[in-house]
Amino acid sequence: MGERGLMPTKKNRVWILGVAIALVFALSGCGQNGAAASSSAASSSAASSSAASSSAEAASSPAASTSAGADGVKLSDDSSDFVLLSEAVPDAILEIRYYSTYNFVGDRIDGYEEPLAMLTKEAAAALKEVSDELVAKGYRLKIYDAYRPQKAVTNFVEWGKDADDTRMKEYFYPDLDKSVLFPQGYIAEHSGHSRGSTVDLTLFDMKTEKEVDMGGTFDFFGEKSHPDYTNITEEQYANRMILRDAMLAHGFKPLAEEWWHFTLENEPYPDTYFTFPVNSDSMAGK
Ligand SMILES: [Zn+2]
Repeated sequence: MGERGLMPTKKNRVWILGVAIALVFALSGCGQNGAAASSSAASSSAASSSAASSSAEAASSPAASTSAGADGVKLSDDSSDFVLLSEAVPDAILEIRYYSTYNFVGDRIDGYEEPLAMLTKEAAAALKEVSDELVAKGYRLKIYDAYRPQKAVTNFVEWGKDADDTRMKEYFYPDLDKSVLFPQGYIAEHSGHSRGSTVDLTLFDMKTEKEVDMGGTFDFFGEKSHPDYTNITEEQYANRMILRDAMLAHGFKPLAEEWWHFTLENEPYPDTYFTFPVNSDSMAGK
């Protein structure tokens, strides 16, 4: 799902927020989480879905090679620097949740046209090192999501506006009312995943032939997903740290709210959000 991100605001403040967002991007080089972005937006306005709509329209406008969204975000449909994880990290197991219906929305998500995982070649190379290290310890990486087209994030935003659609609540947000997902930052208008150097993953134990027990599941909306959550067993915490230590050792940085989410520290496109779909055509000619 999303990361703590950019909060929607009232329509008449969209322009101002856009400038603020651009500044946050410029200052932090990190548009995905930034408590600063969340808190400043939240304090300056009440959350409403109208701004999300405005931004969603911008994000889904016909993509030029590079274009600027109305909110000041740089969009690009250039996939030339991306690779398929099935080729770059052949030991990884792919379970692309947004291609399936087993995700917090309950439908296949827009932009996921094939069950593939793509990353920038820099992020994929780093992930290959992580994989090699963990394979030697008896694990495989299991990938839930990697590059996420902007269209998919817009799909999340649209879903967020439909208060009646709570089909997957019992699995992904049992303790939260859907109305708080925007204000609390679980859904945002842009995701670091769209920059192509962020991955959601867990460990698969080759001995037990099962996913490693992380004391929580991918895309669970709640405190239990924080990597340092203390109300889990020592073993579950240790498992989270096996994944985290390996990722950090090879250049990734963690997210405080999601044990499964990591971004390449020196990501090659820190301020570009990509729009091409997840399919093999996007990789054609490489
Ligand atoms: Zn993620």
